[in-house]
Amino acid sequence: MRDPETGESIDDGLALWFPGPRSVTGEDVAELQLHGSRAVIAAVMAALARQSLRLAEPGEFTRRAFLNGKLDLTQAEAVADLAAAETEAQRRQALRQLEGGLGEIYRGWSERLLRLLAHLEAAIDFPDEDLPPEIETRVAGESAALLGEIEAHLADNRRGERLRDGIAVAIVGPPNAGKSSLLNQLARREAAITSPIAGTTRDVIEVAIDLAGYPVVLADTAGLRDSVDMIEQEGLRRALARAEAAELRLFVFDASQPEGAAGAAIWPGPDTLLVANKIDLVRDRGCLPSGALTVSALTGEGLPHLIEKLAERIAGHYDIAAPLLTRARHREALETAAAALQRSLAADLPELRAEDLRLAWRSLGRITGRADVEDLLDVIFADFCLGK
Ligand code: GDP
Repeated sequence: MRDPETGESIDDGLALWFPGPRSVTGEDVAELQLHGSRAVIAAVMAALARQSLRLAEPGEFTRRAFLNGKLDLTQAEAVADLAAAETEAQRRQALRQLEGGLGEIYRGWSERLLRLLAHLEAAIDFPDEDLPPEIETRVAGESAALLGEIEAHLADNRRGERLRDGIAVAIVGPPNAGKSSLLNQLARREAAITSPIAGTTRDVIEVAIDLAGYPVVLADTAGLRDSVDMIEQEGLRRALARAEAAELRLFVFDASQPEGAAGAAIWPGPDTLLVANKIDLVRDRGCLPSGALTVSALTGEGLPHLIEKLAERIAGHYDIAAPLLTRARHREALETAAAALQRSLAADLPELRAEDLRLAWRSLGRITGRADVEDLLDVIFADFCLGK
């Protein structure tokens, strides 16, 4: 590398040339591989700046790739998610989105909607043309089918979003059962990602961990017991609310006081794992409720098994083939589209139905970032050959 003005040698390195349009951004791209010291980078940057080059803004490469049609918006968002991924499951989800799976679904819906809209518009605008008479019935039928698919995609329990943000697991149970000790043990065994998390209150402590590749936010809640103390009651209320909202619960009780397990009855079902802690204090395990996972937060006994069971339960929820909705932005656009489709189905006049179909289509297009009226014209004329 030489300074183009003085001719002075700056570094010994490699320059890679990626001619557009088959580069990452679609433009001509040169990549310099340098010895990464501060002095080398400063000298190269200074020489480049004199050639009117500047540093890229954050996200600028991805933005240019989007503008040049290399990526859709869901893929551009996936680049950010991939860069921020902290666990295997997050990495896989982001990569799948980057490969275009999610955008493909939305584009597919968008294209179907556009076709329906084009058919309806044609029926409205060109009443004298030779159009099939049952067109409106078909548009209504297909709109309803599309609405069903969008609603099914929305009714996903926010799994994709939870996978981005962390899966909530609440530790609940009677006071002194060893909830905090268990949280500490789990956090220490599984590398803690971040701690503490914003929003942590004194009655709910949260720790983010990587549990078998899944991002899990463990919350230690205040002990459950009847209390006359006002502050404790508030803590209890929050603990119950948190446990209720969590995806999974570990109900921890003291194995030497097995009657404490009774409280788990508030959350029946497979999403509450019953954990008998302090098993080191118990000789006779016969009186423990069946199905309780036995652990000792003190000695570490049973913890690998507990982690395995927890991971199994999470994998059951998240190992699915279909790409998941991952962002509130997509959810909002899909909800707007679904509402417009519902209105369209309920409207009397074909003009109103078409207007709502158009709104639904615009909204879907905003997800992937491609919603041009040009497309609509193209489809109308391609499908009906009206321009003849
Ligand atoms: P929490 O109120 O449910 O959060 O319970 P803590 O984690 O504060 O534990 C209550 C007490 O039980 C503490 O003195 C812990 O050291 C003790 N403890 C927690 N887990 C175990 C265990 O597995 N075995 C024994 N022997 N003691 C434990």
